[in-house]
Amino acid sequence: MQHLSAEDFLDHMQQLVLNSALNSTYKLALIMSIVDASLKVSAQAVKSEICTIELKDIALEFLRIYWPQCRPYPSPSPNVAPGVLHQGINKKNNLKQSDRILTIVNTAIDRAREEVPSAKVETFEQISRHPLLMKPLVADCLALLKKNPLKYIAADVDFLYELKQDHIELYSSTVILLQRFRPIIKELIESRWLKHIRSNADNAALLGESTSGSLRDFLFDPTRGETLENIRSALLDATHDERCFYCGKALKRSSTHVDHFLPFTRYADTKIFNFVLACPSCNASKSNWLVGPGHVDHWVRRNSDYGTDLLQASKDIGPAGPVAVADMALTLYGLAQRHAEPLWLNKTSMGTDKNSLLHDPSAYEGILISLNKNRRSMLALAN
Ligand SMILES: [Zn+2]
Repeated sequence: MQHLSAEDFLDHMQQLVLNSALNSTYKLALIMSIVDASLKVSAQAVKSEICTIELKDIALEFLRIYWPQCRPYPSPSPNVAPGVLHQGINKKNNLKQSDRILTIVNTAIDRAREEVPSAKVETFEQISRHPLLMKPLVADCLALLKKNPLKYIAADVDFLYELKQDHIELYSSTVILLQRFRPIIKELIESRWLKHIRSNADNAALLGESTSGSLRDFLFDPTRGETLENIRSALLDATHDERCFYCGKALKRSSTHVDHFLPFTRYADTKIFNFVLACPSCNASKSNWLVGPGHVDHWVRRNSDYGTDLLQASKDIGPAGPVAVADMALTLYGLAQRHAEPLWLNKTSMGTDKNSLLHDPSAYEGILISLNKNRRSMLALAN
């Protein structure tokens, strides 16, 4: 483990993801799982020098990443039947490791269908709602990760973490870098992953003339459209509010965007508490920014006024996650405060003619007070 500057950290990450040792997708998945699990380390926990991440939390993220990849890929060629894509390059060892995880997931899906015939388990969100199915799945995945992958990666990435029996240890400074640079690490990993899949000759017939975009969506973002459509209906059911969350404009059904309040690149989860309805213009302008104080207060009010309705409306979609989203808001705003990141404000809330960015580090104090209040009310709601 090393204390690294942001520059050295990015340099190490870039070399790690692009170097030839990562010759199989399970290694990429494992690094991404650690990055995603690091998001759950709280703002409070990073105040001490060393942080820990439980291996079972890494296994959970690992499964979430691999889940969509176990489905048969629908080849664009009419004469080729759908099939599961091959994951490794080196056929002797790495292919086996990567394909073994596919076996674990497929076994779990079969087991789920047998034990709970009514359970929908096509997406990871669906199986997440069944603790009885999840427990053995996480245990199997954990056993596989402990066998080799975690050791291999620990040797390849000696700057990142130290492997212990049931957790890894990282410097808090590293956790903060993982949280901060998640978007760029994710881009790098997905590009490398696509290359692996494309360069495997065994996939050639199946891939045919597939575009990179369609392959990427299949691998990393398979249910986004469908999930967002469900979330849009659930938000309308819960709040009966058909106005843009940011500018208040009335929304037409055809042009209602489902906006990740905490941006998708920083928190790619589908819990309803992280969503608001927005007009296309606000959604595009807000982009990857965190929003300013007025919008945060509005969100906190929304959560507390409609908390019960949101829980109810998302029953058939997946975990609503009031507390998980509240925690993530504290983590991401705490992180942004450290770097004095500007915050996005809609023109209506500013009384100006253009949306703008607020460059005022002192705004974070009030926001964090609001977000702590939100967390307390979400804890009460969950209990
Ligand atoms: Zn708007």
